[in-house]
Amino acid sequence: MFNVDKIREDFPILKREVHGKPLVYFDNAATSQTPQVVIDAIVDYYSNYNANIHRGVHTLSQEATDKYEEARIKIQHHFNAKQPYEIILTAGTTHAINMVASGFETLLQKGDELIVSALEHHSNIVPWQMLCEKTGAVLKVIPMTGDGVLDMKTYHKLLNKNTKLVFCNHVSNALGTINPIEEIIEAAHKVNAAVLIDGAQATPHIKPDVQALDVDFYVASAHKLCGPTGVGLLYGKQEWLEKLPPYQGGGEMIATVSFEKTTYAGLPHKFEAGTPNICGGIAFGVALDYMNSVGFKQIASYENELLEYATEKLLQIEGLKIFGTSKNKTAVISFNVGAIHPYDIGAILDKLGIAVRTGHHCAQPIMDYFQIPGTVRASFSFYNTKHEIEIFIDALKRAVSMLS
Ligand SMILES: *Cc1c(COP(=O)(O)O)cnc(C)c1O
Repeated sequence: MFNVDKIREDFPILKREVHGKPLVYFDNAATSQTPQVVIDAIVDYYSNYNANIHRGVHTLSQEATDKYEEARIKIQHHFNAKQPYEIILTAGTTHAINMVASGFETLLQKGDELIVSALEHHSNIVPWQMLCEKTGAVLKVIPMTGDGVLDMKTYHKLLNKNTKLVFCNHVSNALGTINPIEEIIEAAHKVNAAVLIDGAQATPHIKPDVQALDVDFYVASAHKLCGPTGVGLLYGKQEWLEKLPPYQGGGEMIATVSFEKTTYAGLPHKFEAGTPNICGGIAFGVALDYMNSVGFKQIASYENELLEYATEKLLQIEGLKIFGTSKNKTAVISFNVGAIHPYDIGAILDKLGIAVRTGHHCAQPIMDYFQIPGTVRASFSFYNTKHEIEIFIDALKRAVSMLS
């Protein structure tokens, strides 16, 4: 049974106050809060077995290596990858996308086409633009419609024999739209294009099955999944990871090194140069265990209740407009009230203990589409409550009356 009061006990930060008011944390799309089990795993690592991995003969190093590789297997099972070495531990989503983009440099030629969606986070736009500059490939955009949904008719028309890669987020961080990635992947494969899905915003709510999706690359960040910052994953199909050259040179990613010739290590080490975020990787595994113990079905259905409740209450506020009204969305609400600048609303909400995000949410093309400088974004997690939404609505009404 889903018991939010009991779940809240797992998150020490939810007990703190901000400006003398109980914290209401509605910035979950930027980063999630950390349960005690994950904090304990971090403390345990540094208290009991902090050591460098893979090379050590001593006990601490072996313990750390075992735990780190256990975490990789937890991640493999969570995403249902076929092999553990198809999971590359990265510094996060941005790092993972840059790895793939850089790898494709040697595989593209002038005139090749890449397709991006209009709903992307900057981290799934800029690395590809840099790749296009280097290779002469051309970037095409799947447009969106007024409700923040991708125009799939145009997508199908953009695909052709020159299309080499398609990249799209599973869920938009700015609007919450859940994109039809199954259709995107299937259509891309018909023209032999590879697909990278940015799952940073989807993975806190949805448990993806990379084999069922038949996706080529899937990336995500631990810190949006109740894990620590600075760690994430690149899932890649074995055949693709073997085809791509390594991203960085250094220790750990080699088989043999001499000044005449270096040969690279096999997967996953080929992509994991240097000492990784060992503690972060282990804590990521613990965070996944925690989320799975709560249950992704329960998480999604409870968050959906919060989304409907908040949407209904917000729409009663005069002049309030919600951006992103897809029927298929996660618990993210982007909005503005009349001509009030989002930053002003966010600053007043903060004084009342409420954390929301304001601005372009690293998705300026979406803001340009709506011709707005930004939005206020409230994003809910399974540890939020309807009572918090009521506090937020009252505070928002106060802010609006002060600012208009
Ligand atoms: C947060 C986010 C990113 C960036 O993740 P980092 O952890 O900052 O690398 C990329 N794409 C989407 C959709 C996001 O929500």
